[in-house]
Amino acid sequence: MIVLLHNDLDEATRKELLEKLQSWAIQRGVSICGFGTGWGDSVELLPADGATECDYAIEIRSFAGVRAVLTQDEPTYLVAPRSGSRTQVRFRSAAFGNNAVSAIAGPCSVENLDDLLALGADLVAAGATALRGGAYKPRTSPYAFQGLGKLGLEMLATVREQTGLAVVTEVMDTRDVELVSRYADALQIGSRNMMNYSLLREAGAVGVPVLLKRGMSATLGEFLLAAEYLAHAGCEDILLCERGLRHFDPDVRNLLDLSAVPALKERTHLPVLVDPSHGTGASSLVPSMMAAAAAAGADGFLVEVHPCPSRSVSDAGQALTPTEFATAMDTTRAVLDACGRKFNAAQAPTTSN
Ligand code: PEP
Ligand code: MN
Repeated sequence: MIVLLHNDLDEATRKELLEKLQSWAIQRGVSICGFGTGWGDSVELLPADGATECDYAIEIRSFAGVRAVLTQDEPTYLVAPRSGSRTQVRFRSAAFGNNAVSAIAGPCSVENLDDLLALGADLVAAGATALRGGAYKPRTSPYAFQGLGKLGLEMLATVREQTGLAVVTEVMDTRDVELVSRYADALQIGSRNMMNYSLLREAGAVGVPVLLKRGMSATLGEFLLAAEYLAHAGCEDILLCERGLRHFDPDVRNLLDLSAVPALKERTHLPVLVDPSHGTGASSLVPSMMAAAAAAGADGFLVEVHPCPSRSVSDAGQALTPTEFATAMDTTRAVLDACGRKFNAAQAPTTSN
């Protein structure tokens, strides 16, 4: 049984709480078998013979400064469902979860400002509320385009100023978390880094929403525990994104697991998004999978769109043209409508970050 303390306790309050826990444990014959995890504040307790963890959990949860109690009989992970309420994550006019649905769209990689500005206007017209685009790219080959770095971040910020679109962009390295978070409205952690626990801790603590993609061969349990790292580090605004799994058929890039949407929603209060672009790898399949994801209950979409897909420096085969994206949005809107849901509306541009 693990007692999680609030991250922001001052030293005196933390000491007081630990002393209270210690005397409480002695009175009940509970052993304390560990203090802290080396980076967060937690205490591990071993119940006395014959007692259940639940008996204690209720009591300990009422101690001031206790953030959560994780037990084996009644798992209460920070990301686990919260009696009937679903979290809504919002940044600028994008909102996800608890009846809000938004589309994040844009190129795989940020390439140049002119293309990105023109694309931004088309994305707004189609109903997207956030712009995606990688300035730091995880590429299989070290010789492939690696992204424009800080210059790419600046371009994203310029498009945000002019269009009002929120910016979602990937961070790959703990050393870049602070820089990327100064430009991004939400940090993206990619499939390859879902198990990069140092990155999860760092990104989770920086105070910006995080979009976490499912590892391409991660189980749902591993995905949720990766999200738990973010939550434990202090992040309350987490978006989970299904992006397809590694599989045996070379004809399809990834196998898009749409059953993950309702399955995850049973196991977490967090919004669940779907990326039909990486999920299929083929632009012709993206619109159908986007509509299917809407029917499965997705709280948002991450879609690759490029002004001229054949010119895209990365993932050219899966990018939609702006016109194809607008049509896919219309179909998806109709599916959402049939389910009693609708896209969040965009707001006018602002110049503040
Ligand atoms: C991306 O979104 O461009 C990307 C690299 O995705 P993934 O991490 O899912 O491969
Ligand atoms: Mn891509």
